[in-house]
Amino acid sequence: MSEPMLTVDNLLKHYAGAERNVFDGISFDVPKGKVLVIIGPSGSGKSTLLRCVAGLEPIQGGTIALNGQVIDRGEPGNEKSGRAKRSSQLRTKIGMVFQSYDLFPNRTVLGNITMAPVMVQKRPKPDVEREAMELLKRVGLADRAQAKPHELSGGQRQRVAICRALIEHPELMLMDEVTAALDPEMVHEVLDVVLELADAGQTMLIVTHEMQFARAIADKVIMIDSGGIVETSDDPEAFFAHPTTQRAQEFLRTFE
Ligand code: ADP
Ligand code: MG
Repeated sequence: MSEPMLTVDNLLKHYAGAERNVFDGISFDVPKGKVLVIIGPSGSGKSTLLRCVAGLEPIQGGTIALNGQVIDRGEPGNEKSGRAKRSSQLRTKIGMVFQSYDLFPNRTVLGNITMAPVMVQKRPKPDVEREAMELLKRVGLADRAQAKPHELSGGQRQRVAICRALIEHPELMLMDEVTAALDPEMVHEVLDVVLELADAGQTMLIVTHEMQFARAIADKVIMIDSGGIVETSDDPEAFFAHPTTQRAQEFLRTFE
């Protein structure tokens, strides 16, 4: 595979007051232009992992590197919650879409997408609006640009959240169970957009419980549980057909 865009090395994560570490030192990488899917039971640390990579959680050991440059180094004992110290330029290189769309209710769809690039990155408003309209067209929502979030369905709101992340041109996109809060009939319209992003070469780290989708989109799969990696595979077809560890076999069976 191509060179890694993201390299997580020996990451240790502990929450203040918790009995055990969420991660006891896990390592993996995401090659440029590839999709890594992370699966694992509820509470195994999938969201924590994405939040650490996004710089939303301090880490207590190990390193996180982007394109070979270390952007986060663990500090033992530093468990104060809050963002990692990263420059705003570095922060825009990693985009994230969460399980529940946190759009600003009083702004239009267009306003939600253009706000950060215009106000934080100081990009010219006409350019940003033009790009936002292109993105909305790409996800099939060009006609909803002036709508408010409450006028949209859950699937439409989540597609707007994806546009809002994309307009910052993230090199790495993190997606945390982006369809988990949706009614079943809306899951596909969001997953199709994510599949198109993968086809366009967007490097992504995806957490999902949609196993058919995982199988279709993954270049690499990791299953995590109990503080570590249970199984990792560069051959998702083989992994989903015949996981080698008993733990992964048991986990995948719960989706049949
Ligand atoms: P997953 O996304 O796989 O369901 P999480 O990353 O949400 O798992 O949680 C992993 C573990 O860390 C769980 O035991 C959870 O209770 C704990 N945890 C998550 N967030 C916090 C927090 N902010 N403070 C303390 N413990 C947390
Ligand atoms: Mg989670």
